[in-house]
Amino acid sequence: MTTTIKTPHVHLKVVNEKKTDLSLESLFGSVPLTTYSNDPKMDPVPVNWGSADPAVRGPIIATKRGNGLCCHNAIGAHAGPYSIYRALAVASKQLDPDHVPDYTNAEPPVNFPQQPQWSDPSKIVAMDPFGHLAPWLFADSDVEVRPTISITKAHLQLGDLRDEVASGNLPVDGDVVINQMGDLNCTKLAVDPVWYLPGIASRFDISEAALRKSLFEDTNGMYPELITRPDIKVFLPPIGGLTVYIFGDPAKVSDPSSKLALRIHDECSGSDVFGSDICTCRPYLMFGIVEAAKQAQQGGSGVVVYFRKEGRALGEVTKYLVYNARKRGGDTAAEYFHRTECIAGVKDMRFQALMPDILHFLGIKKIDRMLSMSNMKYDAIVEQGIEIRERVPIPDSMIPPDSRVEIDAKIAAGYFTNGKVMTQEELKEVKGRSW
Ligand SMILES: [Zn+2]
Repeated sequence: MTTTIKTPHVHLKVVNEKKTDLSLESLFGSVPLTTYSNDPKMDPVPVNWGSADPAVRGPIIATKRGNGLCCHNAIGAHAGPYSIYRALAVASKQLDPDHVPDYTNAEPPVNFPQQPQWSDPSKIVAMDPFGHLAPWLFADSDVEVRPTISITKAHLQLGDLRDEVASGNLPVDGDVVINQMGDLNCTKLAVDPVWYLPGIASRFDISEAALRKSLFEDTNGMYPELITRPDIKVFLPPIGGLTVYIFGDPAKVSDPSSKLALRIHDECSGSDVFGSDICTCRPYLMFGIVEAAKQAQQGGSGVVVYFRKEGRALGEVTKYLVYNARKRGGDTAAEYFHRTECIAGVKDMRFQALMPDILHFLGIKKIDRMLSMSNMKYDAIVEQGIEIRERVPIPDSMIPPDSRVEIDAKIAAGYFTNGKVMTQEELKEVKGRSW
């Protein structure tokens, strides 16, 4: 009985001895580690997720500066992983932490009319449908409201497109394809994720509590408010977002009488940017852009959505380790997924269940030409009530020889094909290049 009294006494003494310059308070000053929902000072600005009226829905507020400490209604920080660079800029005194953004002339150059899907809480759970208008809609707010979507216009110059024009596959029309160089006119949207936790939990058929606990524990406690603020339902996850490229008139994307070609592409920097031949990513991306542009030239519209989910959302470090394991183990289509599972524990962490949110934001109700063979993307889109009329595989002629291992393994695992699905025995004979 006496030892239980002694222990805290000894502990207190140690703290007392070191108090002079090494106490946490002398190092950091007064830093609130978290807030609590039962603290009477907490008064979060209400969020009515799924309301059609932005004034009723309310702004998303993440800042804890000024009034934000009491009235914020989102856990986490804006700009996903880039919030860490902002912290570095503040720490190194290159950015005033109280800098107020001046959004003069930064508003969208294209109007994306509000869709009924924006106010269906079962359809949009992973982004803020008012995110592109936030600073202007909530200009009267006395606490910082930041946009989570921005929209602009661009010309794309891609060498592959120049070749398509030269071969006659993609005509110059002066509108979508601007010139003989194959320059493309587009409207583009950058979207940061904004998660409505009850909706995310429901999409995965788990409880909100299980979701919060896993997000807290598996980020090693980065966001204590996931546990201490059950009254706050919005989370800004520290992950990459997506970019939408629209070819043709953006108003046609949501018009069911107009044809739509769509590619959903998950980032693969090694192939997309640097041309690595181990997968079909860049060839399929280029095929998607060309087909999207052609659909726009034919009076419809084309959309390419580029998700930052590098290496099936396992990351590039894991991806290269898998490449090594494949190449050293005799790279065959039969072993393709197994090698990923050995290292990552799963085949894939892209969770396409959240992907269709952007299609709902754009008001897409049907897709005439789906420029993807992925059964996971197909199932996720159809499950969300969006019809897919035709699935368009990458032409065989665009598949680099070393990537046959990947594409044949994927087709055997359920990817769409108009051709043959190989047996397990045949997959053993599909071999990649060794080092
Ligand atoms: Zn790839």
